[in-house]
Amino acid sequence: MREIANAPLSANAPWIVMKFGGTSVATVARWRNILELAATRRAEGARVLIVVSALSGITDGLKQLCTHTESKRRSEAAAALADRHHALLADMALTMPETLGARLADLADLAETGAGPLGELAWQARVQAHGELMSSALGAAFLSANGLPTAWLDARDCLASVALPNQNERTRLLSAMVEPHYDAELSARLAAQGEVFITQGFIARDEEGRTVLLGRGGSDTSAAYLGALLRAQRVEIWTDVAGMFSANPRQVAGARLLQRLDYEEAQEIASTGAKVLHPRCLSPLREPRVPLLIKDTNRPELEGTAIGPEVREHAPSIKAISARKGITLISMESVGMWQQVGFLADVFDAFKRHGLSVDLIGSAETNVTVSLDPTENLLDSDAIAALAADLARVCRVKVIAPCAAITLVGRGMRSMLHKLSGVLAEFGQLRVHLISQSSNNLNITFVVDEDVVDDMLPRLHELLIGAGALRTDDSLVFGPSWQALYGAGEQVLPPAQWWQGDIPKLLALAQERTPRYVYNVPTIRAQARRLKALSAVDRVHFAVKANTHPGILKALAEEGMAFECVSPGELAAVMAAVPESAPILFTPNFAARRDFVAALKTRATIGIDALHPIEHWGDLFAGRDIMLRVDLGRGLGHHEKVRTGGTGSKFGVPIEHIDRFLTLAHEAGARVIGLHAHLGSGILDAAHWGEVYSQLAALAERIGSISILDIGGGLGVPSHPGETPLDMTALDRVLKSVRQAYPQFQVWMEPGRFLVADAGVLLARVTQEKEKGASVRYLGIDTGMNSLIRPALYDAWHDIANISRFGEAATTMYQVVGPICESGDVLGSDRRLPESKEDDVILIGQAGAYGAVMSSRYNLRDEADEVLLP
Ligand code: ADP
Ligand code: ASP
Ligand code: MG
Repeated sequence: MREIANAPLSANAPWIVMKFGGTSVATVARWRNILELAATRRAEGARVLIVVSALSGITDGLKQLCTHTESKRRSEAAAALADRHHALLADMALTMPETLGARLADLADLAETGAGPLGELAWQARVQAHGELMSSALGAAFLSANGLPTAWLDARDCLASVALPNQNERTRLLSAMVEPHYDAELSARLAAQGEVFITQGFIARDEEGRTVLLGRGGSDTSAAYLGALLRAQRVEIWTDVAGMFSANPRQVAGARLLQRLDYEEAQEIASTGAKVLHPRCLSPLREPRVPLLIKDTNRPELEGTAIGPEVREHAPSIKAISARKGITLISMESVGMWQQVGFLADVFDAFKRHGLSVDLIGSAETNVTVSLDPTENLLDSDAIAALAADLARVCRVKVIAPCAAITLVGRGMRSMLHKLSGVLAEFGQLRVHLISQSSNNLNITFVVDEDVVDDMLPRLHELLIGAGALRTDDSLVFGPSWQALYGAGEQVLPPAQWWQGDIPKLLALAQERTPRYVYNVPTIRAQARRLKALSAVDRVHFAVKANTHPGILKALAEEGMAFECVSPGELAAVMAAVPESAPILFTPNFAARRDFVAALKTRATIGIDALHPIEHWGDLFAGRDIMLRVDLGRGLGHHEKVRTGGTGSKFGVPIEHIDRFLTLAHEAGARVIGLHAHLGSGILDAAHWGEVYSQLAALAERIGSISILDIGGGLGVPSHPGETPLDMTALDRVLKSVRQAYPQFQVWMEPGRFLVADAGVLLARVTQEKEKGASVRYLGIDTGMNSLIRPALYDAWHDIANISRFGEAATTMYQVVGPICESGDVLGSDRRLPESKEDDVILIGQAGAYGAVMSSRYNLRDEADEVLLP
């Protein structure tokens, strides 16, 4: 036992409410943490009210006990639950305290006698309240015995439930509500009694003096009620994760800690499925503006989530994706009745009578479908059957279950819809029963079959990051991922960028001149080696359209790359820069006859992607080996404008025209020796190339003359913090497995971006700043879409850093813009940077691919020059 000596508290010392959840109170090791944490708060001069849940699993056990009809079974169940407490008491090296003994006896009694005159529901509430009554009694004994005198308080003497008109007996007893008004008298009474208190979560007392429950997970709400009653300085929710994450971290390892949220956002995340906070626990805190902090009991050093009243200035962003399972949909078909006066009133009246609260609503001409959320409803009864029977009198009823609701939450949801096309495409492949957008513009919800959710969530989370809808770059809001905080030792940090170690050199280069592209050659060579290591690939062509700098072409030739060109100009650039031995592929699109004439004079292998050249200029190809680019009927990639397959794209010969092409080639005397497909760019899923490869191989087998399959490029590099890089080992594995099935074909690839994107940065200088409205700040730099058009063309994301102030806190939200007379001349929206000044050097990352090559002299501004760092 240790002695904790503290100066006495003044009468008006602030209150801090600390709530510890089920896992936080289940072992003696956790109780030592609680002791430490509570003692620290007390030592800092606060009066402490500890609110505890039942030991984990106990409430479930008590619920189970209530289902037994035989007294003997109930008594056995009570004894087993008592044993858990005896065991913890023994671990704590304590003898049975009187408070706990009384509770155990009480529970044994309730179990033995059964509901009796109390009535079934009131009895259930009394029984289930014992989880918290017992854990708090244990806690009081442990804390007091270890040097922190702690008074046991009966929460029912502080929290009085109110009977609301929309509740029935069941909800009044098992899912009760309290209206917490500031209670100066309670605060004074407690202050007179002591300094540290412990009480129960989950329970309250109704007007008739009966014990009532606040609904499953309701201890958080108890803490909030008490925080509001006492006008606490803060309510702390101590649990088994460091805070609220952007998705359930047990399902999505890449979920990010949300460091700051306002009440509304946090409320929305909690009520749409994030179990870490009980959905009712924020509303009591809003009016008195009591902040709430979520922390990990086992890792108190982690920052946690701070929730408060301030709606902060930050980038419009999806903050979280949550899911609720166990959703029941009630579909009501009303042959023509639905527009009748009173129909909806009748329907909703039935829900009210059965104590069921409706969550989402969808309506059509003759149908209304609503969802029932298990966290707001006590669906574990036959309530639904009774409701359906009742509703059957006014309409045809169909119950659809089990469903799950997947919700995207964030402020300004509607302004983000354009970024959600990838997410919507995922849902497009499923049976979506209901889509609902909240009227407060904070969420959009999709109701789907329950069994698809677990697989979908990690994918959707990743898609949201990739689309820039979940703004993981905003480090004020988004903290580390769950994996980084808790993963098995291996921190998944974003790969360090070469330029972070070269700031002085870059500043010196910018001093000489801006705007300026700088390329780091070792980064390019390293990427080339990763591609060379793909054992199933015979030849890798650099798609030179990504970057035609002669020094880069030369370095890549040294690394054993071949080259893919799409114009006579590119052919000339390659031939001027690389040795004769480097193979070249010419795969143009809508190229003129003269382009083919020029290409045929070089050593390039020619690819054709339309019928016209072979049909009308067949003579050119007589006696030649050619490749045929096919359109496999679908496109892929990070933006509509980079997808190069399907009828919406101008590339490739559609599958139905392949036979005609072959006939024409045969007539022209050309040999079709290769098939080629390329679906788009920025693809991070290794499985994709396996699919293309096997599709091409199957086609090639049918054709007969083919010996080469070019499975395209499109290998992506992650651009948003938190995106998972392409798994090269998986890619190798996928390709090898297809190769085993089709060993007769050579395999070619043609990546561009993958080789050079990360190697290049664009340096520019701040020219000026401009403010508009209350919070919009433009930061102007000395180049824009004339140097880097990707943001304007594809909504592409490029990292932006102020390297004159590298390492300083990024405190200011900027719209980073160039000097071109176009509204689209924006290089990055809502970027948090250090407060920036004229002449600061701004670095735009990942600009090595499709940067300089796409630049123009628009507005007659000089093009950026290019510098190689060997
Ligand atoms: P306690 O017993 O401490 O009240 P809960 O189990 O009720 O703890 O809540 C914590 C759990 O909530 C986490 O362990 C996690 O599994 C789950 N959870 C679901 N969604 C989220 C989310 N978005 N962020 C954090 N935790 C979440
Ligand atoms: N013990 C209760 C439950 O398991 C309340 C809580 O833990 O918050 O639901
Ligand atoms: Mg909980």
